[in-house]
Amino acid sequence: MAKKNENRSDVALKCTECGEQRLRTSKNKKNTPERLEISKYCSRCRKHTIHKETKSA
Ligand SMILES: [Zn+2]
Repeated sequence: MAKKNENRSDVALKCTECGEQRLRTSKNKKNTPERLEISKYCSRCRKHTIHKETKSA
């Protein structure tokens, strides 16, 4: 069985420009209790855009 780590959780990231939701990352809930906002490369927009956390996977 996989080791349980309560502080890390997988989240889905959504591009704020085209709405594409295909990126995933994990975050530390203790360090980042608020919603994530990261600049990431979007393959649809073909540039870096702001990606926001949508929900936990
Ligand atoms: Zn995009």
